[in-house]
Amino acid sequence: MVHMGTAITDGRGRCIITATGAQTEMGRIGALIEGVAEHGTPLEAKLAQLSRALLLIVLVLCAVITLFGWLRGNELLFMVEVGISLAIAAVPEGLLAVTTMTLAVGMQRLARMGALVRRLPAVEALGSTTVICTDKTGTLTRNEMTVRAYALGAQHVDVTGTGHAAQGSFQVDGHDIDTSKLALALRIGALCNDAKVDRQGDTVTILGDPTEAALIIAAGKAGLDRDTLHAEYPRIRELPFSSQTMLMATAHTTPGGGTVAYVKGAPGKVLAACATVLGDDGETPMTAEAMQRARARNEALAAGALRVLRLAYRDLPDGFRDADLTLGLTFVGIVGMIDPLRDEVKGTIAQCREAGIRVVMITGDQQATAAEIGRQLGLDTAAQGQPLQAVHGSKLADLDDAGWIKVAGETSVFARVSPEHKLRIVEALQHSGQVVAMTGDGVNNAPALRQADIGIAMGIRGTEVAKEASSMVITDDNFATIVSAVEQGRVIVNNILRFIHYLFSCNFAEIVTVGAAIMIGWPLPLGVMQILWLNLVTDIFPAMALALEPSAPDMMRRPPRDPAEPLMTPAFGWLIVWQGSLLAGCTLAAFAVGMAWYGVEGEGLHHAVTIAFMTLAMAQVFHAFSARSRSRSAFTSRLFTNGWLWGATAICVALQIAAVEVPLLREVLRTVPLSWADWGLVAVGALTPVAVVEMVKWMTGWRSSAVR
Ligand code: ADP
Ligand code: MG
Repeated sequence: MVHMGTAITDGRGRCIITATGAQTEMGRIGALIEGVAEHGTPLEAKLAQLSRALLLIVLVLCAVITLFGWLRGNELLFMVEVGISLAIAAVPEGLLAVTTMTLAVGMQRLARMGALVRRLPAVEALGSTTVICTDKTGTLTRNEMTVRAYALGAQHVDVTGTGHAAQGSFQVDGHDIDTSKLALALRIGALCNDAKVDRQGDTVTILGDPTEAALIIAAGKAGLDRDTLHAEYPRIRELPFSSQTMLMATAHTTPGGGTVAYVKGAPGKVLAACATVLGDDGETPMTAEAMQRARARNEALAAGALRVLRLAYRDLPDGFRDADLTLGLTFVGIVGMIDPLRDEVKGTIAQCREAGIRVVMITGDQQATAAEIGRQLGLDTAAQGQPLQAVHGSKLADLDDAGWIKVAGETSVFARVSPEHKLRIVEALQHSGQVVAMTGDGVNNAPALRQADIGIAMGIRGTEVAKEASSMVITDDNFATIVSAVEQGRVIVNNILRFIHYLFSCNFAEIVTVGAAIMIGWPLPLGVMQILWLNLVTDIFPAMALALEPSAPDMMRRPPRDPAEPLMTPAFGWLIVWQGSLLAGCTLAAFAVGMAWYGVEGEGLHHAVTIAFMTLAMAQVFHAFSARSRSRSAFTSRLFTNGWLWGATAICVALQIAAVEVPLLREVLRTVPLSWADWGLVAVGALTPVAVVEMVKWMTGWRSSAVR
């Protein structure tokens, strides 16, 4: 069957169209994908909600201030002007823009690390990931299979040689043996095979499945060449490997003129198709005892973390049918291959544990192999809960919803799992409130990839459909890249919280400054143009710099953010209120001193207003340094890690000086030049909030569990 979307690379043929559109296999998968609703972006929803709430509060506050100012004897038109400018200043219209910029810059950083984000919201989900469900082969391991052992009858044969090298020998108990005994097993491996191994001098190019390439290389070590074998035993029929059937069968004409079926596949599947077993005394029936022995051999190999395939054959009758290829076979032996772990993965998994992220391995490989690899990777350490829980796919078949949630919550290794089960695992984890990242490469994985909060497709091994369904593509197929991406996601979410903290407390300070002055019955401490200027200068540059904060060293030593937590928690709201009020208080204090020095009329008032304006502007710039962290001191060795913030500070200071020194700006902003004493007053007013905020951080203690 040629499925829709198949690319024909070679040859000639005639096709009969049996189905179109939704009736095709592709269409069926498409329908499955459609059934899985695409998630909106929680961050954007939360931000929109927050902005709406804020807009309302700001408008009410501005209206109240306008009304009060008017009742206090100010001109109505002037107060309306003040109200409007305050509203413009206080509504965080930059919020969505800076958020989008942060996400976009984050995407760029991620891309440089080899993680291509296909959907913007995935960046946020990455930051809150609580569970990573990962493939084994190729992601945790290198997918460089090397045949290590054959088990034939009672004999265990070791295969030497490393990687893809052509050299190696076959040994029993350390002594080289005559390979003719192995000829059948090697032939099955090399012929029931679609891979190609291309040797050009020292460079080896593998085309096709690494599992199959390993079998070709092993046969080569005994002097059996794939192409020569293919010429001797031309292939007449093939049942290709699929992760559903877990086996592959081919039919060949033999040099003797007969036909033979060669089969290789997952141990259980092949054994189930065998009626006889080949031993030292020829073919004997597959008794319960022989079955038991064969199983024990498999377990022994798998417990050594070897990937295990069984080999079988059958002399085919004339006019055989496809079903005959996987029926009444003769069991020949077992081949075990290693797939080395990727070096960095073990450390990365330990890092995940520190970061409060659970790692779950999901593989089609058998349980004993998977469990051993899980153990080697440290998936079973006490910190993950209890000893390693490995579950076989067959145990999952008739679980109810509650059962799924329980199993998904406890298991670290899922073995022999079908693609449908992957979808159920994701759903069960999501039901118990987890944010799930899931990897996948095959077409069958598309629904699970789509359902996951972050579907991760493999750039090298992944199929086009898998990439299409996922929100992120990893270019090097490496688990470590996934974890770096999670870290980067956390950085981005934290940066968004940083500039929300900064923008909101500064805007709040502006409202309180003007509002409080009107309540007390003072003249207005800020001019209309000055409010707009603050909105342009101090709101934008430091906020953008905060959005570019680099990762903190303890970023991956904290638990993930609770995805259910709203952006604006009461504690965060309180932080913004008291810090905003503090900025306003210091501004008003500087204003009071200014009024005492220069009076409340005419040019003197302009002077006092200039001092207030300058104090608030500088206080906001310095406040950005405090806003880098809610709990950690601004004065650590990390003071200089964000160069952007220093750049923003330099720009803001230069612009503020220009605001009082450049005649044109002076005219527009209605400012006056400041004396050294004035600057001293401004410095005291602007630095006091930093001192107080840092003092409070110090007194409440350094809390490692704090959000940032
Ligand atoms: P995974 O890649 O996670 O190990 P697969 O679904 O690819 O899972 O493989 C499942 C099982 O099928 C393997 O454990 C192995 O026993 C068997 N298998 C894998 N590749 C092949 C192949 N090319 N031919 C026959 N059997 C295979
Ligand atoms: Mg595979």
